[in-house]
Amino acid sequence: MMQLIDTHSHLYSSKFSADVEEVISRAKEVNSHVFLPNVDLDSIPQMLDLTGRDPGFFFPMMGLHPCHAFADYQEVLDKMRPMFEERKYYGVGETGLDYYWDKTFIPQQKEALRIQIEWAKEMDLPLILHCRESMDDVIELVREGQDGRLKGIFHCFNGDARQAGEVIDLNFMVGIGGILTYKANDDLREIFKNLPLDHIVLETDSPYLPPVPFRGKRNESSYTKYVGEKLAEIREISFDQMAAITSENALKLFGLI
Ligand SMILES: [Zn+2]
Repeated sequence: MMQLIDTHSHLYSSKFSADVEEVISRAKEVNSHVFLPNVDLDSIPQMLDLTGRDPGFFFPMMGLHPCHAFADYQEVLDKMRPMFEERKYYGVGETGLDYYWDKTFIPQQKEALRIQIEWAKEMDLPLILHCRESMDDVIELVREGQDGRLKGIFHCFNGDARQAGEVIDLNFMVGIGGILTYKANDDLREIFKNLPLDHIVLETDSPYLPPVPFRGKRNESSYTKYVGEKLAEIREISFDQMAAITSENALKLFGLI
């Protein structure tokens, strides 16, 4: 079987601490690369620890997740920015806007996103975007920042056809994970039937949002297989074609080919 790329996985989460060796070995049967988005200052040591186990397999990124952007976001970002000089990070993120959990810090989330948009341009790195009940605002801020240099992924895309079109117009990738397999998501499958194939990348968002048949359980990177199978089925292409296209998209985006 051709290998796949998981462009978004929190495999360093404590949810994997009991059996991380097995999780990694299953991932290696399915994945060629696993990209690790950061969350906040506390997640950095765990992310770099996991990366250190196999630096040719795990690719860390650096940024502040919108659900962790609070009153002190500026201090946090001031600590993160110099870290890009200390080692290679493959992307900025994950950043974005989340209006689902808590609306208290929306202004701070927006400022943190604006700052990380500038980082992505300065350092020519992909921007990893999280949107929850906020996609139009994220699209607007990315459009404001897009001067031809910005690139990245709208991760775990769950928008409508208009929003998918806007993401493509912004020259961003659409990241798709387990939700593509959910019974209720016919509309999403219809969107992925029509999206240009050179704008789609696979992800899991492990440990969250596992594909069918693992709903309600812990997600892990090897489950990209189920997402990829569903995408191949929707597009009426072979698994190997799907794997070759989505892997090339990811490797180009992250500057690895
Ligand atoms: Zn994430």
